[in-house]
Amino acid sequence: MHYQPQRDLLLGRTILVTGATDGIGREAALTYTRFSAKVVLTGRDTEKLRQTEAAIIAEGGQVAGSFLFDLTSATPERCMEFARQVEQVAPLLDGVLHNAGVLGDVAPMVEQTAQTWQHVMDINVNATFFLTQALLPLLLRSDAGSLVFTSSSVGRQGRANWGAYAVSKFATEGMMQVLADEYKHTSLRVNCINPGGTRTKMRASAFPQEDPNKLKTPADLMPLYLWVMGDDSRRKTGMSFDAQPNRKPGIAE
Ligand code: NDP
Repeated sequence: MHYQPQRDLLLGRTILVTGATDGIGREAALTYTRFSAKVVLTGRDTEKLRQTEAAIIAEGGQVAGSFLFDLTSATPERCMEFARQVEQVAPLLDGVLHNAGVLGDVAPMVEQTAQTWQHVMDINVNATFFLTQALLPLLLRSDAGSLVFTSSSVGRQGRANWGAYAVSKFATEGMMQVLADEYKHTSLRVNCINPGGTRTKMRASAFPQEDPNKLKTPADLMPLYLWVMGDDSRRKTGMSFDAQPNRKPGIAE
């Protein structure tokens, strides 16, 4: 995507990013602050969260709040409590990027263990849903809220061995579509991003034999991540965008 916004694209905006401690989420949090947003960071690892926050502050960016939240413990009650804590540092949210996710096992359906299946659904679907319910009131206080889910190409077309992960991303696309329809007469827009194969630790665990140098980096995807949060996407809702529209799904060759 060729998109070169002004540095003040997100001035006055506050954006919450889940999974801000690594990969795409960390890059998105850094990028949003470079384009003048304040961010609310969440992650499950104290030290990595501190490092992301320090990297943003070292560049002169603004962190409204930083919250340790392991999404394996994301009950509806815990998410409501989290939203109340967020409200203390950010009375409204202009953007939420649901980015945190887990891969589970790359294995045929018949070999998917119940435990891993449940874990993938807990993080990728249930936690995302409970968090969305809890954060919606803060998003609706914005005059141009943007709720963004993270999908995958296997969340649109099933593929052998992608098991729980693929099913969880179909659910993510569905959640986005239902919410987009429910809020179509409000200022809130709801969309998905499919990053496409990207050089991160999740990708390396899915395809250990792949040469990471053949993949785009999280930084390469940021034009779309900026566009969905800024005013240029204000009228778009209920859509699933590809950060790498010309990329063929599967291993990079
Ligand atoms: P990474 O594994 O690099 O990062 C995932 C992030 O989610 C990390 O910050 C991680 O925390 C966090 N996370 C994982 N489990 C939990 C948990 N229980 N509680 C809180 N946070 C958690 O993955 P990517 O950056 O590659 O993926 C980001 C998103 O993009 C995911 O939703 C993924 O499904 C999607 N995606 C990625 C693609 C790719 O090729 N990379 C392709 C298509 C979609 P920690 O730092 O502690 O591990």
